[in-house]
Amino acid sequence: MRKPFVAGNWKMNTDSHTSVELVKSIASGSLEVTGHSVDVAVIPPFVYLQVVAGALSSSSIAVGAQDIYYERQGAFTGEISASMLKDIGCTYALCGHSERRHIIGETDELINKKVAAAVSGGVLPILCVGELIEERQADKTTEVVSRQVKSCLAGLSAAKVSAVTLAYEPVWAIGTGLTATPQQAQEVHTLIRDLLGQMYEESLAEEIRILYGGSVKPNSVTDLMSRQDVDGLLVGGASLNADDFIAIIRAAV
Ligand code: PEP
Repeated sequence: MRKPFVAGNWKMNTDSHTSVELVKSIASGSLEVTGHSVDVAVIPPFVYLQVVAGALSSSSIAVGAQDIYYERQGAFTGEISASMLKDIGCTYALCGHSERRHIIGETDELINKKVAAAVSGGVLPILCVGELIEERQADKTTEVVSRQVKSCLAGLSAAKVSAVTLAYEPVWAIGTGLTATPQQAQEVHTLIRDLLGQMYEESLAEEIRILYGGSVKPNSVTDLMSRQDVDGLLVGGASLNADDFIAIIRAAV
């Protein structure tokens, strides 16, 4: 049985004061469900990770980073390693978020190195995949998502892949207000799970959590989570509003 997992990606938002206020409200508003009925993570900007982790020291809400670099240390100006993230109490790292793929230009090969380095360094990757609107319209969703999953997990052993969470985030649904229908989400989640079963063992594929992301709002959660292969949610905009994010966490249980 896969425990639901809800993660809130704050992107380039909040400041040192509002990040702490936000996470304190989320922690107190979701106290009885977080940890046992649902895993929850917040993913603030790098510079606020430490204050947010500090504010969560007596909570079971985990902290994640929005990115990670694959080298361990050295002359890589501006980059952050797995050991640095671990050092400040960071549990998860997003790898290959669509904004990094399509705005910053990250490739599957780079994302593959990040996923591998995260696992080796003791940080749990949340690997994001998803098609552009033109790709969906050209009936290429299966091809694109399959390529992303295979390339970004290339060379990872079954033991390492068991540390990975997948997130299906159709690019056309991110920040647009357009949510994939539960049926569309389920179709791609099944595709990903089948692919994982072919690449590894079916039993391993059954254990891996696959989140849906793309304009999730409190009122879309129950339908999405009712689908067999939707194991949780990666939430952007709505995770910046404590009441909405708490409602999403509760509806995901
Ligand atoms: C995201 O950033 O991963 C995301 C899904 O954003 P939003 O919920 O705002 O579409």
